[in-house]
Amino acid sequence: MSTDKQNRHQVVVIGSGFGGLFVTKALKRADVDVTMVAKTTHHLFQPLLYQVATGILSQGEIAPPTREVLARQKNAQVLLGEVTAIDLESRTVTHNVLGRETVTSYDSLVVAAGASQSYFGNDHFAEFAPGMKSIDDALELRGRIFGAFEMAENAASRGEPTDHLLTFVVVGAGPTGVEMAGQIAELAHKTLRKDFRAIDTRDSRVILLDAAPQVLPPFGAKLGAKAKAELEKIGVEVQLGAMVTAVDERGLEVKEKDGSVRRIDSVAKIWAAGVQANPLGRTLSEQTGAPLDRAGRIAVNPDLTLPGHPEVFVLGDMISLDHLPGVAQVAIQGGKFAAREIDNRLNGKAPQGPFKYFDKGSMAIISKFRAVASVGKLKLSGFVAWLMWLAVHLMYLTGFKSRIGALLSWAITFIGNDRSERTVTEQQIFARVALERLDGGTRELVSDPGEMDAIIEARRAELEAVAEEESRLTDTGARGVPDEKAPEGQSEASATS
Ligand SMILES: Cc1cc2nc3c(=O)[nH]c(=O)nc-3n(C[C@H](O)[C@H](O)[C@H](O)COP(=O)(O)OP(=O)(O)OC[C@H]3O[C@@H](n4cnc5c(N)ncnc54)[C@H](O)[C@@H]3O)c2cc1C
Repeated sequence: MSTDKQNRHQVVVIGSGFGGLFVTKALKRADVDVTMVAKTTHHLFQPLLYQVATGILSQGEIAPPTREVLARQKNAQVLLGEVTAIDLESRTVTHNVLGRETVTSYDSLVVAAGASQSYFGNDHFAEFAPGMKSIDDALELRGRIFGAFEMAENAASRGEPTDHLLTFVVVGAGPTGVEMAGQIAELAHKTLRKDFRAIDTRDSRVILLDAAPQVLPPFGAKLGAKAKAELEKIGVEVQLGAMVTAVDERGLEVKEKDGSVRRIDSVAKIWAAGVQANPLGRTLSEQTGAPLDRAGRIAVNPDLTLPGHPEVFVLGDMISLDHLPGVAQVAIQGGKFAAREIDNRLNGKAPQGPFKYFDKGSMAIISKFRAVASVGKLKLSGFVAWLMWLAVHLMYLTGFKSRIGALLSWAITFIGNDRSERTVTEQQIFARVALERLDGGTRELVSDPGEMDAIIEARRAELEAVAEEESRLTDTGARGVPDEKAPEGQSEASATS
């Protein structure tokens, strides 16, 4: 193994999600240096975001610091930053943190930048119905959900109506929407029931909407119907064939299949419908001609490389290949495959051939002790499916600390019927709107390097003047002496001190 960093094969990995983290870890023993560039400092376990939003888990339990996860991997460096450009010709990646740019060269590149929420061209819905893709999203939703109960208690104390505050709408009946609706129903009907005086939280309505005709389509018709029945049993109103056409602060509009439009008054709305692949896919498509599908996913070769660029691998939610689903296992297995391919090439071994995805199944939790699971031909529901869900999530949560923490929090929720993470702050709820008001985004919160020097020098002069004045006041005995009695020539200075 070469120890000379200059001569070693340089791998740049974009993203610290499932694809990015697993490819980096799998390169641990390879004769390479890995530079992971990611927009966040943590590795996020997205499948449990809804539990952060509904107060079951803390954000730390599902998002350990990537730096800590990779602390013992000597050939891996982590750099915080948003990749803004990939130049396939010069083999460089440019990333940006608060306006400062860094350019990194690569021999191999792995792009695993994931996907974001899609509002199907209605991005303005996001302000009123946040999606769930990041820790920021989950904490904002936590604030909005628990905040709605607080506002209802106040309104009821004033004798005002509370229906719009106690109506929660989840848009999208995929696994995330189902899990979210189930948890809000448990909050309203069980967890919070004794905590309020003016409202009865059991009067809450939890509505799960979808334009499709069934719940959980990827689980098949039978499990979809079971999930719907289970949701209704715990008090979720499932409304199918319902297309959301408008969203505002106080509610949303829904168009039915027969063309009729109705309004639902609801302050707390959650968007769990649709994903859009990361825009870096477009950058790659423009430079290679590789087509993008409707969700912005890029077509890759069967070995996950970019057409015409065997040195570039694209993973996970960004790829369009053989109808692979946007799930964690596609990214994890793709990451391990790409790492093996890079190592094989360096060792002169033959290519592995096409990437083969092994489908380990899908599962969604519905309520306490109840879940649905589809594993090959096996379709399970109820307690057995829930136990499987528990085992799989414990196994794949990154880090021993996270697993222990999650297990304790789950015991509090599932056995004790309580929630350990109900703290919310105003900043969690309103920061998104405040940040969007900045023209240049977060860049406006910091000054340019030159500007900072000028600020530092001005501040230094100010501090020196204050120190000089303080010392003069002490030395001349002017402290505590009214201005008119101050030694001659000192009154003006004292007045301004
Ligand atoms: C709420 C929710 C629930 C889910 N539930 C399940 C489930 O139960 N089971 C399942 O299998 N899958 C589930 N998924 C899907 C699963 O999480 C994804 O398929 C998986 O995370 C994809 O991995 P990835 O590496 O492609 O992307 P991600 O894990 O999303 O990682 C993308 C990474 O890229 C970084 N990044 C993005 N843009 C840039 C940039 N410009 N520069 C630098 N870094 C960037 C991000 O910060 C992140 O670190 C769920 C997803 C969500 C959102």
